[in-house]
Amino acid sequence: MDRLPIFMGLAGRRCLVVGGGVVAERKIRILSRTGAKITIVSPTINDYLQTLVNDGTLEHIDAHYSEGLVDGYWLVVAATDDTAVNRRISEDCEERARPCNVVDDNDLSSFILPAIVDRSPVVVAIGTGGAAPVLAQQLKARIEAILPARIGELASEAARWRGLVKKRFESGRMRLRFWQAFFDGAVARLFLAGRRAEAERKIRRELLTEAVGHETPEGEGWIVGAGPGDPSLVTLKAQQLIRTADVVLYDRLVSAPILDFARKDAELIHVGKSPDSSTNGQEEINALLVRLVAEGNRVCRLKGGDPFVFGRGGEEIKALKSAGLPFQVVPGISAALGCAAYAGIPLTYRGVSGSVTFATARLDKDLPPDWPALLKGGHTLCLYMGVGAIGNVSRQLNEHGVARNLPVAFVERGTTPAQRAVRSTVGTMVEDAERHNIEAPAIVYIGQVTALADEFRWFDGRGERAEQAPMDGLRTVEATTSSAAFGAA
Ligand code: SAH
Repeated sequence: MDRLPIFMGLAGRRCLVVGGGVVAERKIRILSRTGAKITIVSPTINDYLQTLVNDGTLEHIDAHYSEGLVDGYWLVVAATDDTAVNRRISEDCEERARPCNVVDDNDLSSFILPAIVDRSPVVVAIGTGGAAPVLAQQLKARIEAILPARIGELASEAARWRGLVKKRFESGRMRLRFWQAFFDGAVARLFLAGRRAEAERKIRRELLTEAVGHETPEGEGWIVGAGPGDPSLVTLKAQQLIRTADVVLYDRLVSAPILDFARKDAELIHVGKSPDSSTNGQEEINALLVRLVAEGNRVCRLKGGDPFVFGRGGEEIKALKSAGLPFQVVPGISAALGCAAYAGIPLTYRGVSGSVTFATARLDKDLPPDWPALLKGGHTLCLYMGVGAIGNVSRQLNEHGVARNLPVAFVERGTTPAQRAVRSTVGTMVEDAERHNIEAPAIVYIGQVTALADEFRWFDGRGERAEQAPMDGLRTVEATTSSAAFGAA
């Protein structure tokens, strides 16, 4: 390590910036976040800097740089476009043991400014010693993505309680336990979920209980949508919860890379039901979920797509609620949305479709679908769990006189490298599905918008071509007059 990262308190302290252009401006924007008193030296300054001077935020010395100007400043930034001047500033600082940054010149700089993730008071500084600024920016973006939005507020909250915690626990070890639980436990989760009042009640309760640190931890059930398959379609919140969970109960449709987000020591339990399994599977899952949460585990119930769209998430929160256990629900990108996007089927489209229905093809005898309403002009129908029931659906559509040439699309394993999409029509959907051997999981789209996919297709799974298909475990899909295939052909 050839440079020491330090966090320097600059509030009210004088800093000098030499230069009046956009480069100086950039540094001033960062420095001013700390409350530093900034002086700028330059015969000309840009409009933005001028407004800062006008409102008194910035002191302006209207002159060229001259030796001795650096005296009396905590930090100096040389941001002129004149290399010789920058070098002189650097040398003057060196002589006077004053920290100096010369913009874009590592060798002349005794300090460099890191890439910064600012969730004050939580601040992450990333440096590559000037070797790879682009890498630093990429790391910054990744850290931005994994830090919860309210992490700074959480740290401020902790600071508020510090005095009381110190009074309450004499031993340093007990304090450590308290803070570990604070940042890794229910308080932080409530706080990060925006439930501040509850979090504060909980802190107060914990600090006033005798058995602090000895009680069984409180469990919570998280009903989390994992999206349609592509791991980059998992929400940040879902990722955070998967990472924190003690136990992950996951479905058949949740892909392995998504499970990789889980903690190394977390227990992963597969509770997937296949389309033909009996319904009491769900009751067993509910019971398992309730038991694990009651035992004090943070249980992430991870489901494909969205938990409230044919996901039975409602039944699971009902079970938790009845057992008096706390829960959260995290939405996911539902298969109908994900597959449509990746197949180039805009679900609504001006002049073509103005409404969308998500329905299941596993027809509920007590709730028969109103087919004419679902298939009226200007509407898009997305059928989940459609593959096994395609014959039945087709029969009913025919009975209701739905136009045989109304376009249809099947999207199988949408958003994954194995995605296949096949175009068809109401009249030929059964034979097309059979011929192309469409298998679950697939969404069946019915409506004029599905025809737009011929024009808008953009995602090809692995970019595979038909001739590579056998290697990738894919089948060749050939277009015919009644059906057009896209996605793998
Ligand atoms: N809660 C899920 C749906 C679960 S029902 C969601 O919101 O997406 C299971 C059905 O979802 C499957 O039968 C299939 O119709 C659909 N499905 C899930 N993932 C899919 C995928 N990657 N591609 C196509 N269909 C998918």
